[in-house]
Amino acid sequence: MYTHLFFDLDHTLWDFDRNSAETLQELFVSFSLGEKLDCTVEEFTIVYSEVIKEMWALYDQKLIDKDTLRHTRFDRVFARFGFQDKQLSLQINEEYLSICPRKPHLIKHAQELLEYLAPKYPMSLLTNGFKESQQLKIHHSGLKPFFTSVVTSECSGFSKPDERMFHYALEKAKAKPEHCLMIGDNPFSDIEGARRVRIDQVFFNPSGAEKTTATFEIGCLSELKKML
Ligand SMILES: [Mg+2]
Repeated sequence: MYTHLFFDLDHTLWDFDRNSAETLQELFVSFSLGEKLDCTVEEFTIVYSEVIKEMWALYDQKLIDKDTLRHTRFDRVFARFGFQDKQLSLQINEEYLSICPRKPHLIKHAQELLEYLAPKYPMSLLTNGFKESQQLKIHHSGLKPFFTSVVTSECSGFSKPDERMFHYALEKAKAKPEHCLMIGDNPFSDIEGARRVRIDQVFFNPSGAEKTTATFEIGCLSELKKML
């Protein structure tokens, strides 16, 4: 019944948490952040995750732009530890943007799932991330050969859950909504977005924490193999 698959990238295929944590650990050491912020690497990583989650939510609601997200995230992290150094925060931001998208780790079972699906379905990536980082991630993680197209919010001009981003992807794939399936981890941008354009959805919910009314729900990517 499905002829085309749309995949989200971050947290669905590309292991954002692991890749980001590795990057933060390297930056923590190279910039001596333990002494400057008076914290452990675990505390630093947890605070960074909290800050970035809040900022992505603001970005998704169009309350902040890309530059604000990028240029103030480490300021906000520093502020939580009562530390301030604008120059250093910008420098760490540059390093983060250079190192993190080159990390190769994928979500468990992603590789074998894509090897199974690629000969059967044309597949597109639909990602709200920024074009240059997403291209690096796709290249360095080995995802590139599996996908016929990559749609970012920057190239389409819109972000999930905006219908126009999905319409753009449908046009690019030359596919009808009823023949497509969207697989993603975000109940709002991936699931609600796809529902708005009548694309069936698979909610990837490994923690089991979130609740949605997606067409399908899986806790592990290997479950998709049985469905498709
Ligand atoms: Mg995601």
